[in-house]
Order: sequence, then C-alpha cells, then structure tokens
Amino acid sequence: MKRREPSSPQAPADMLLVEGLVKTHRVDGSAAHAVRGIDLRIRPGEFVAVTGPSGAGKSTLLHLLGGLERPDSGRIFLNGSRVDGLSEARWAVLRRRSVGIVFQFFNLVSTLTVADNVELPGLLAGLPPGKVRALRKELLAELGLEGKKDSTPSDLSGGEQQRAALARALVNSPGLLLADEPTGSLDSKGTREVLRLLSRYHQRGQTILLVTHDANVASVADRVISLFDGQVVDDISFDDPPARTQAAADVVRLMG
Ligand code: ADP
Ligand code: MG
Repeated sequence: MKRREPSSPQAPADMLLVEGLVKTHRVDGSAAHAVRGIDLRIRPGEFVAVTGPSGAGKSTLLHLLGGLERPDSGRIFLNGSRVDGLSEARWAVLRRRSVGIVFQFFNLVSTLTVADNVELPGLLAGLPPGKVRALRKELLAELGLEGKKDSTPSDLSGGEQQRAALARALVNSPGLLLADEPTGSLDSKGTREVLRLLSRYHQRGQTILLVTHDANVASVADRVISLFDGQVVDDISFDDPPARTQAAADVVRLMG
C-alpha cells in the first residue's frame, strides 16, 4: 500500500504559506512584539483582508511577506519556494516579478510622470521597452488614467495617485498583490474606486492580501483574518468563488 504523504509546503496549491512567523522590533532597548507566531495559507486567486486595530502587527506582517523586513523566526514560502532567508537583492528581484506592493501613501517617484512611474518596474525587470509601453497603456486605460500619463504625481488626486500606484504594482503581473491600507488616505470616492479595481483584478484571478484597520474596507475580501497583539485571532471565509469555480469546472469535466 502506498503511504500517504503529508501535504508538503511545496504543494502548488499555496500561493503563500507562512509558518511560525515572529518579528520583534527593538528600539532603544525596548521591544515591540509585533508578530508573535503567525501561520497562514493563501491559495491562488484568494482575496484576503488582514484586519485588526492599530498596532496589531498588520504592517509588520505585510513587510515580512514582501521582504521589506526579515523575520526573527518562521518560514515563508511563495509559490512553493522558501523566501524568508533571501538576500536584499533577491527580494528586490522577487518584488519586481512576483510580488506587487501598494502602500497608504502611494510612494510614487515624485519627479517622474505617471507613465514613467508605471513603466519603471517593467524596465527594471528587463522587459522590452515596447512591451512595457504597451502594458502601461493598457493598465492606465483600464484604471482610467489615460489622460494623466504625462502628469507628475503631485498633479493627481489621492485616488488617482493610488490607481497609478496600483498600475505600477501590477505592470509585471505579480502572482501576489500586497496592499497596506491602500485607502487609508483617500476620501470615500477614492476609496470606492480603489476597492472596485481590487475586486475587478480579483475576479480575473489576482491573488490579493489587503491590510486594513477598517472593517468596511475588509468586507470587500472573501476571507478576513483578524490580528490582535501579533496573533491571528479569527479567520473567516465569507464566500468561496475560486472553490466554486473549480467545483463547476470539475463538474463540466466529469460530464465530458
Ligand atoms: P499595524 O500595522 O497593525 O498598526 P504595526 O505592524 O505597524 O501594526 O506595529 C505593530 C507593533 O510594532 C506596534 O507596537 C508598533 O509600535 C511596533 N512597530 C512597528 N514598526 C516598528 C518599527 N519600525 N520600529 C519599532 N517598533 C515598530
Ligand atoms: Mg499599519
């Protein structure tokens, strides 16, 4: 009889697998235990919100997942590959190719036009300039920013800047999109725009991890993970469209 193997971390079913993640910030002899043993599994196509009060460790977790900070212990697998021990340079490559990040304050390059901001990661990833230009045009049209391509970030509204930041994060088609309070500095109109776009990309299969302290914003996701004091205290799936779609596909296949 064949022995049943335990499911390995390398199983292709996980976009992200996190085991026992710990991070303590130390400043001037005092310690902030920001992330205190987090386990997490995110499948391709999931739209997950991580929520919790200020100081719960949401941003620290996102920074660890995007390689912007290193964990004290624990393991992170992205698409089956272990990434927590990668060098700064390897993480930079990964962020260009596989992990897109948007932040509360957009972090666009203020001296570059919107078009150049969006093209930059594509060019840094070594894509042919013609292809990058075509991708940029497509994304800006999609995100309603065609007319703003020659503007600099300071000429844009907050909502427009965040849409440009989203275009920049998506230009290399990352498997995983991380967003840290992406609506945190937007008015209600800007918030609606950005959430609508995240939902649209999710419907097309984009895996998204959205960090927000705002329960209303979190409700656009189909799974909500609550953090408190650096630990997961709740993990609720409201709806399961990827599983449903897969189930439907299986039925169609079985029906021949
Ligand atoms: P959240 O995003 O949920 O508000 P954070 O991850 O920013 O939470 O913070 C978690 C804890 O870690 C808080 O106590 C915060 O003060 C502390 N912290 C976060 N970043 C740093 C840092 N760079 N240096 C020192 N302490 C930090
Ligand atoms: Mg935060």
